[in-house]
Amino acid sequence: MVKRIHTIKGPIEIDALDFILPHEHLFTDLRGPLVADYARGEPAAVIKVVEPYLAEASAAGITALVECSTVGVGRNLSVLRGLAEVTPIHIIAPTGVYRDAYIPETLREISEQDLAELWTTELTEGIEGTSIRAGFIKLAMSDDGPTALEIRNLRAAAMASQNTGAVIASHTIGGKIARKEMDVLEEVGLDLHRFIWIHAQTEPDISILKDAARRGAYVELDSVGAPHQSQAELLETVLALIEAGFASQLLLSHDAGWYNPERADGLPNEGYRGYTALTKDFIPALLQRGITEEQIRLITVDCPANAFAF
Ligand SMILES: [Zn+2]
Repeated sequence: MVKRIHTIKGPIEIDALDFILPHEHLFTDLRGPLVADYARGEPAAVIKVVEPYLAEASAAGITALVECSTVGVGRNLSVLRGLAEVTPIHIIAPTGVYRDAYIPETLREISEQDLAELWTTELTEGIEGTSIRAGFIKLAMSDDGPTALEIRNLRAAAMASQNTGAVIASHTIGGKIARKEMDVLEEVGLDLHRFIWIHAQTEPDISILKDAARRGAYVELDSVGAPHQSQAELLETVLALIEAGFASQLLLSHDAGWYNPERADGLPNEGYRGYTALTKDFIPALLQRGITEEQIRLITVDCPANAFAF
């Protein structure tokens, strides 16, 4: 069976794509599902703010972008459809759910089996009654997790991944939690080639990142261009992982964007960060350190394509 990337506009062959950003945000509601106007957003208002950044990314060669704002932090399908209509960039939407404190009431009570079925349906048929399929399963672990509900989510995600082939990408701060999480997934028989450790740069001990890659996981360094991240340190981490032979399991992204429905102007409080630091600054810095164009292509094109195709 041919593997495809499942985007807002439909499935697409991986050969049709070039540079893919595996972890960004378009529309995010960090207040969580308990506020009355949770995830409410007008497509036109969001387009006005976000489209220029997508145009800039497209001009820089980006062909696809993975929207990581999952259920619980504002996934909004009509906003994503609106954006997909005004940009040449293919947008990939998640199924799944954010960490414990953000799990909507309806998803707290249901069984592991039913959750797996719901996510499988979103991956194979469509989200919220549409024919738009989710392109991956996005989860998150609490900083002291995984909690009992997060373990249930991991097991349900493993089932949905085994049903469909979709990858599980999980927000995970630090290697200790990543290790527990991978143990849970392996216990239910998931091949860790179907797992992305999001925010792996939060673990300072590089041997733990290498261990995760050795177990089969994708290691995602997603703070390119972020003001809170030393770019020099991030560069050394990338070089060390390439040196250790893990270029084909390495994902690079900005974790940028974040249209904020809480504010009238839609901007995040620290300002809207765009999606071009990788192409403008980080890749040139890697090339300067002796990384080849072929290795860059492996990391920015083949690796995300292989991770997200199913
Ligand atoms: Zn993120």
